[in-house]
Amino acid sequence: MIYNEIQGVKVSALGMGNMRLPAVDPNVKGSPIDYLKAHEIIDHALANGINYFDTAYVYTGSEECLGACMTKHDRDSFYLASKFHIGSNPDYEAVFAESLRRLQTNRIDFYLLHCLLDNNIDTYLESGAIPYFEKKKEEGAISYLGFSSHASVDVLRRYADYRKWDFAQIQLNYYDWWYGTAKEEYEILTERNIPIVVMEPVRGGRLASLNPEAEAVLKAAHPDWSISSWALRFVKSLPNVKVILSGMSHMDQIKDNLNTFSVEEGLSDADMATLKEACDLFRKSMQVPCTGCRYCTEGCPVQINIPEYMKVYNDYKVNGKDELKKAADIDTEGTPADCVGCGACEAACPQSIKIPEIMAELAELLK
Ligand code: SF4
Ligand code: SF4
Repeated sequence: MIYNEIQGVKVSALGMGNMRLPAVDPNVKGSPIDYLKAHEIIDHALANGINYFDTAYVYTGSEECLGACMTKHDRDSFYLASKFHIGSNPDYEAVFAESLRRLQTNRIDFYLLHCLLDNNIDTYLESGAIPYFEKKKEEGAISYLGFSSHASVDVLRRYADYRKWDFAQIQLNYYDWWYGTAKEEYEILTERNIPIVVMEPVRGGRLASLNPEAEAVLKAAHPDWSISSWALRFVKSLPNVKVILSGMSHMDQIKDNLNTFSVEEGLSDADMATLKEACDLFRKSMQVPCTGCRYCTEGCPVQINIPEYMKVYNDYKVNGKDELKKAADIDTEGTPADCVGCGACEAACPQSIKIPEIMAELAELLK
């Protein structure tokens, strides 16, 4: 196992995320955690050098399960990370006390304000939670204080400057590095000497399998590397990334991850170019190649703002259903449901995009 340092403490580069521990019946929503299976994974992780275990007050059953497992082990052989989420329960004193109780400990090593967003920064800053956790840190009940963020870069910058944070957790993976804001977020934190814990290194599993063209590029370069290991190797190559969280709910997964983190080796310049090529092919496969030229809009009898809907459609293909909410903000006369399928737009489109088909799909999705 490779180790890094956060504030002088030796942490494993691979951290175990405990949000999705194995359920008794994975096919039943709300099925309780299977303690036997979960403890087997946690014990295996610890025995193989992982010493950073991430959970949160809002991960149902996770703190209790992790806490119960860790009573078998020397408290100084691992670090616990947990989080306070103001939206789910603003009573920070009660939440912190409950987390200690569930985790069966008197100390949380890495404590985070959970899921910073553009619309909750002021609530967090004005709540009194930060001074309270600073006091807990002075008392030794918290070792290091940080935050996890899904905020925009401007809000992240504001938060990073608010106080001297011990660490921060952000979403970082090669896709968001090249096509999102992850690089900028990494730089904001690095410039301020804030060590980074990474979540979503495989983008919620989306980078665990790519389209066949992209996978062929990666397999040709390193036939023995799994597709998801490319994502982990990319993040591992960034010097200010200290812990990479991976939610491991199967033994196969943990073994592949341990293999990736058994050696320092990151990605060479040639590997990086290969990965970028594969990433571009992956993105292309998911998207309609709309350039926003607007040739399609003039002849549309119901005046649909087609290029704006194409943007939403592309974002939906890449990021999933949440992106569809953006359709409500489009400045348009007609909506996809108004499309009469006349085909005038497709005939005018230099990219030959099958616009009526996409409009029909969007009409269904937006119902
Ligand atoms: S097919 Fe639909 S989107 Fe295209 S021009 Fe006709 S009505 Fe407009
Ligand atoms: S004509 Fe085609 S490429 Fe141009 S904006 Fe319309 S859909 Fe996009």
